[in-house]
Amino acid sequence: MANAPISLIAGNWKMNMTHGDSHALVTELAERLMNRYGPPVDVAVCPPMTLVGPIAAFLAATRIKVGAQDCSEHTKMGAHTGDVSAEMIAQLGCAAVIVGHSERRRDHKETDALVRAKAEAVQATKMTAIICIGETQEERDAGKTLEVVTRQLADSVPEMLTHSGNTVIAYEPVWAIGTGRTPTLAEIGAVHQHIRDQLFERFDYDGFSIRILYGGSVTADNAHDILRVPHVNGALVGGASLKAEGFLKIIDSVPKPGEVPAPLKADA
Ligand code: PEP
Repeated sequence: MANAPISLIAGNWKMNMTHGDSHALVTELAERLMNRYGPPVDVAVCPPMTLVGPIAAFLAATRIKVGAQDCSEHTKMGAHTGDVSAEMIAQLGCAAVIVGHSERRRDHKETDALVRAKAEAVQATKMTAIICIGETQEERDAGKTLEVVTRQLADSVPEMLTHSGNTVIAYEPVWAIGTGRTPTLAEIGAVHQHIRDQLFERFDYDGFSIRILYGGSVTADNAHDILRVPHVNGALVGGASLKAEGFLKIIDSVPKPGEVPAPLKADA
């Protein structure tokens, strides 16, 4: 029987940050997290590809893990100009790769099948695949949120789990990313419960310990409430991960072990 997973707070820097700014940010994060007394939490930053190597080397002796924002679906070295394989990323000291972010699905026409192939490539290296799913505004307006999430889960998540730790699902409603808008807590709760049910159906008890992150306009102000929604096991944070103060406040918002979430009201 699986245990409830420790929360993961992961920062997706997207295509932001100079070398100097990134160094200042991770220095402050590492120093302040070293002296932090709080609930157990896993922390990761996902810089753009050019910064992944230096930052992974810099953070190697700290508790902050490093992830990439994408990788190739190809696993063998060869003629794939511009691509970077999961194995190459692993060799830099990374622990995770985000795959299927909605900005890649939109900008690079990434399909569920491609996302799944990338997730498999990540898992083959022993890194964790953070697989993003989520509905667009149109799909939400058409009442199709659960249908879309079900399809994306079925088609983007690899068939086999070697262990539940190498898969993280990030539920990121596309309309909430970078907009300052979020679903209600009840809506987040309903989707996360649905994702948990699907994972349990597919992976049996391992499905309980796969972390399900919420992503989409998480800030220091709303993190406390969002992180207490049942089956929210952390957050994938974009804009608010670019400043140490805000990101640390989000990290400090994770519930204490054994903290029992209050039941959600329908209009929460
Ligand atoms: C993201 O890009 O994964 C994200 C959640 O962005 P933001 O927090 O800025 O909405």
